[in-house]
Amino acid sequence: MIDYENVSVSFGKFNVLHDINFHVNQGDFLHIIGPNGSGKTTLVKLLVGLIKPTSGNIVVKDGIHMGYLPQKLNTKTNFPMTVQEVIYSGFQKQKLIPSKEDLKLINDWLDQMEIPQLMNSSMAYLSGGQQQRVFLVRALISNPDLLILDEPTSALDPSFREKFYQLLYRLQQEQKMTIIHVTHDLTDAVKDDCMTMYVDQTIKFFGTYKSYQEFEHRGHHHV
Ligand code: ADP
Repeated sequence: MIDYENVSVSFGKFNVLHDINFHVNQGDFLHIIGPNGSGKTTLVKLLVGLIKPTSGNIVVKDGIHMGYLPQKLNTKTNFPMTVQEVIYSGFQKQKLIPSKEDLKLINDWLDQMEIPQLMNSSMAYLSGGQQQRVFLVRALISNPDLLILDEPTSALDPSFREKFYQLLYRLQQEQKMTIIHVTHDLTDAVKDDCMTMYVDQTIKFFGTYKSYQEFEHRGHHHV
């Protein structure tokens, strides 16, 4: 579904990523880890098209619909949108006014995220964790083929985080959704057969989580 071919990214003289080569199959769940500033966010921004590679190619299967949760959310206190408006902006097609069915879908998702009461609230008044749940719904609601999450759970409490990962595994299993997940913390429910990438300017490890654990035991430490 996705191919990175000899991808490098430089900002001016500063080389952030070099010689990036990897392949993602449909239905893969890929966790991307690495130290701060190692290029993880840059790697996924390339995929969404927010930045262009300095050299190399990124080939994505035609017609793929993506859902993206960026790391830096717009959480300014004057963010002038309601929860419903933010989520509706994640629909593939928008009308002037959301239909009854659209509103029901939004409501069902808010229920799942345990914030049904916030439908008409202004984003500005939500806590960081609540805002993060809203942006998660926004990324998920159009049922993307490819879901890209950049540190999606940083503001979620541990019990909800667990629930959220269960939801992701369900989407992967039942809908063959492909999921790319940038995280600081691999101790979160990771399954042995998940793909794991350790990035530090270039790919230092790429394989199943099971084999990653062996790689770590051989003396490599992350973060
Ligand atoms: P990570 O997500 O692993 O923390 P990033 O991909 O955000 O790392 O950043 C990698 C490096 O590239 C950092 O040193 C960051 O400061 C730098 N960087 C990211 N975006 C830009 C940019 N637009 N211009 C200049 N430097 C950038």
